[in-house]
Amino acid sequence: MAVNTDFSTWVEVRQIDLDAYNSYGENDKFPDDLEQVSDDEFLAALTKTMNEPSQTAHLAHFNCGRVEFIGKPPYNFALFKGLNPDRNDKYVYGHPKYRYHRSMKSFCEHVVWIVLEDVAQCACHPCIETYCYM
Ligand SMILES: [Zn+2]
Repeated sequence: MAVNTDFSTWVEVRQIDLDAYNSYGENDKFPDDLEQVSDDEFLAALTKTMNEPSQTAHLAHFNCGRVEFIGKPPYNFALFKGLNPDRNDKYVYGHPKYRYHRSMKSFCEHVVWIVLEDVAQCACHPCIETYCYM
């Protein structure tokens, strides 16, 4: 699939296959002790969060009314359930520098810059964290 970086035309729904972009993800940080959520569920959660009213600044980058993530998550990124079954914590693993994104909102910001092919501009929590605990 050709990578789409031309967002000059406004569309109501922008379909994006994140697997088509260079993610810089690293699966060697995936946890052994947590249960992985399916990629479909991961994409559905990411799509839901990206289209929340608080994320309109991100949507503006894609020049659209809403984003629909199709295909697969970014290469070498995956969603895992937290250890406590009473809580609904989920963490996105794969960030090359930090261990994980603590929230889907934090990961949304990272995804924007993956798609814009300029991850160096990203200011998500793992990207700007200077203390890297591994
Ligand atoms: Zn980032």
